[in-house]
Amino acid sequence: MHKIFLGCIADDFTGASDLANNLVRAGMRVVQAIGVPTSPLSADVDAVVVALKSRTIAPQDAIAQSLAALSWLQAQGAQQIYFKYCSTFDSTAQGNIGPVTEALMDALGTDFTIATPAFPDNNRTVFKGYLFAGDMLLNESGMQNHPLTPMLDANLVRVLQAQTRRVVGLVDYTAVGHSTTAIAERIQKLKAAGVGVAIVDAISNEDLMRLGPALKGMPLVTAGSGVAIGLPQNFGIAPSAQASALPEAQGWQAVVSGSCSLATNAQVQAFITAGRPALAVDPLRMASGIDVAAEALAWAAPLLQSGPVLVYSTAASAAIKAVQETLGVQEAGALVERTLAAIATGLVALGVRQLIVAGGETSGACVQALGIAQLQIGPQIAPGVPWCYCVPPRSALRVLPAPQGGRASLGAARRLAASGIHITLKSGNFGGNDFFTDAFKMLA
Ligand code: ADP
Repeated sequence: MHKIFLGCIADDFTGASDLANNLVRAGMRVVQAIGVPTSPLSADVDAVVVALKSRTIAPQDAIAQSLAALSWLQAQGAQQIYFKYCSTFDSTAQGNIGPVTEALMDALGTDFTIATPAFPDNNRTVFKGYLFAGDMLLNESGMQNHPLTPMLDANLVRVLQAQTRRVVGLVDYTAVGHSTTAIAERIQKLKAAGVGVAIVDAISNEDLMRLGPALKGMPLVTAGSGVAIGLPQNFGIAPSAQASALPEAQGWQAVVSGSCSLATNAQVQAFITAGRPALAVDPLRMASGIDVAAEALAWAAPLLQSGPVLVYSTAASAAIKAVQETLGVQEAGALVERTLAAIATGLVALGVRQLIVAGGETSGACVQALGIAQLQIGPQIAPGVPWCYCVPPRSALRVLPAPQGGRASLGAARRLAASGIHITLKSGNFGGNDFFTDAFKMLA
């Protein structure tokens, strides 16, 4: 059996891709598993990221899922475990960063680990234990108003100490800015003083590259995705184009967008302005029982042969509020997700093999509907967003006859039925304005 070097556990879905993307850029060959796999790894890779949805669930559930992921990763030979959370250290009053870290330490029989969400490429820096988002302290950055995980204190030593029985300390910038040796010495001192978890300062990629070697052999690392850039070197791996190589792209191209973030709204507008075909789907028509998915597929089928199409529920905040007031927040979200997932599977059945999905929850729904269990991570499209390749169950890949024009020849249909899908899962705020067109150009 091939043994992996790094076994990663991510507490959400698009965050898992973000981590995988950084590992690939540092030279590792990576697959992302959707949930804890039920069978051994078949691919020959250096790291696996198990994507959980454990950020805001009850701590005991997050612990149980994380330990299941740990067992599976250990069975694949993982030499080091990486627990990945958000670069804004998103946690509820109970955790789950502290409780999951503690449970993983217990299971691994280790008495020391680090914790740092620093990700300078995305403007998340930690200095003297305080987390900054851009130029603002975390608790002044807007994160104090987050609906699920409001962050009211930027001092991560205090935040983490409230979530764990272990003593929390700090590897401060004096050591991190100096050298790997200074970091290693600081870690030894903290261990001797009984510290179990140390927040680590880092304000640049150079800091993370100095930190990497100091983490060699540490059974558990906990961090955002930033620390990943300094770890592959510990396993003798250097950046290479090979790591992100994916099979050749096939089939038609489409975008399904359920994200309503400012960035995604701008991306939808840019796609329309570029003269590409785009269809808005209306949640109120879905709620009235109309088969909006079938309508969208009938619209898309004859257009696919002329280039990428977009189906979107993306809307500005006033329109969403109006829909939510009529249908309820949860109901509206679930209804739109179900419909977009049906559209994504329908598009694949029409021969789409290059698919962009915009929105974290929307991505979850589409990946689930397509029956995707594993994603091979490819080249970066935008920071935090890679192209991925997957081979869903054959039933999802069956190419159905299209009403007119949109159908490939019988031979091409057979080839498509045997080919996987290039897919990218774009979390709401990621990507530049032309993401929907630029992404496909990369596969050409
Ligand atoms: P993001 O990554 O931007 O947060 P998500 O897909 O995670 O995007 O979340 C967007 C949520 O909004 C989903 O639950 C989606 O179904 C819902 N949604 C999308 N469009 C609409 C709309 N027009 N009206 C109401 N809810 C919508």
